[in-house]
Amino acid sequence: MRLPLASLFLIAFSFSTFAKPDRPNILFLFCDDHATQAISAYGGALAELAPTPNIDRIAKEGMLFRKCYVTNSICGPSRAVVLTGKYSHLNGFRNNGDSFDGSQQTAPKLLQKAGYQTSIVGKWHLKSTPTGFDHFEVLKGQGQYYNPMLLTNGKQVKHTGYTTDIITDQTLKWLEQRDPDKPFFLMSQHKAPHGRWEPALRHLEWLDDVEVPEPSTLFDDYSGRSNAAPGHEMGIADHMGKPRLMIEYSSKLTPEQFGVFDGHFRPRNEAFLAARLEGKDKTRWHYQRYIKNYLRCVKAVDENVGRLLAYLDEQGLTENTVVIYSSDQGFYLGEHGWFDKRWMYEESFRTPLIVRWPGTVKPNTVNQTDLVSNLDFASTFLDIAKTEIPGDLQGRSLLPVWKGITPDDWRSSHYYHYYESGGHGVPLHFGVTDGHYKLIRFPEEHLDTWELYDLDSDPEELESRYGDPEMEEIQKGLQEELARLQGRYEVPAE
Ligand code: CA
Repeated sequence: MRLPLASLFLIAFSFSTFAKPDRPNILFLFCDDHATQAISAYGGALAELAPTPNIDRIAKEGMLFRKCYVTNSICGPSRAVVLTGKYSHLNGFRNNGDSFDGSQQTAPKLLQKAGYQTSIVGKWHLKSTPTGFDHFEVLKGQGQYYNPMLLTNGKQVKHTGYTTDIITDQTLKWLEQRDPDKPFFLMSQHKAPHGRWEPALRHLEWLDDVEVPEPSTLFDDYSGRSNAAPGHEMGIADHMGKPRLMIEYSSKLTPEQFGVFDGHFRPRNEAFLAARLEGKDKTRWHYQRYIKNYLRCVKAVDENVGRLLAYLDEQGLTENTVVIYSSDQGFYLGEHGWFDKRWMYEESFRTPLIVRWPGTVKPNTVNQTDLVSNLDFASTFLDIAKTEIPGDLQGRSLLPVWKGITPDDWRSSHYYHYYESGGHGVPLHFGVTDGHYKLIRFPEEHLDTWELYDLDSDPEELESRYGDPEMEEIQKGLQEELARLQGRYEVPAE
């Protein structure tokens, strides 16, 4: 049968029209060190005081996960897991001293091959030059909060202003010039709220007159656990130092910025130093200074999430764009007396995951129980794009879970492995959780110990039950599960 040319044209046109809804855009909004405790959609003691209405909007229009756990709670390694869908020992990026091998298979490369436009703007933190992206515009190393340098295709471009705003400006610029006929995969990744916590000038006075509630474990003495935690060097009492406390601050500010910044901090710092606080009073002051600056950095992130969501609305892209909000790990906001991350304890082991996909993810739903992970993100991106998921990925597509149908054989335990021994006094450790109990192994000679927590009765993980005769069966079961997962994931022996 011969079809007239006009009919062929019409068929081709129809295919391209109908192809679009099958291949949604993916907007991956990723922060650095953003704890669930500082997202109001997760509730908690800070929710009313420091709301995040724009991130909450994603939750209201989508699904929030309460048990999204990382595989290795530190910046670079988490990012390598997101790109590859493989544990650190296989993707080669175990700790922040490593450099990412960009020649390996990654989700962006596979999406690019599948016809997606791929772009990353903001924090990269993997040392090597990004691969698999049609466009990259990334901070050098950790980046800085003000006046950042962005590396793009061999060029370094200096920007003036607040980095969280600039990352969004550049994200919007890329969206404006993209090819509208192809779906996009866009990673917009903030430095914030990573330390040292330098707020935007417009947020310096916010929270100034309030007392932020202290977590119940601010003065934790670590009794009831192994001798691992007492060796920490991430204490709000003793380890913050003047730069983290904004008693000394950035040399990267322009004279105008410095004037406003210094105008805020100097009189407050002088009053603090003159008061010569000691003991708990001093720790309390440190906590207030830390948490307020952290929350101010989050406020700028939230405003910028709002700008991107508004852009999707204005451009008619909301319906056909999957929005994912997450962080490279959680963080201690004073719990156990700490700032920083690394430990397998809940606050840093858990990371936010909030997703919106109109028509696919039911609005305003909370997934309380399924164990999901940043290990699953790569498989999920590929599944959204209807692209084959290679067999060597170690995670699993979250799409069925997003659709509200958790497969019967979904994971019932999750394996964790932290390698950067000694950073902030945190030893090498690994472990497993089934969502109710958690077993942690500290194998290094100076510790050579275990911890076991009953998360349902002791959510703050204050009392290790390892070796408790009442827990014998649970302990044995988790030790077997740990060995099984190490075999399954091909973890090299201790
Ligand atoms: Ca981080």
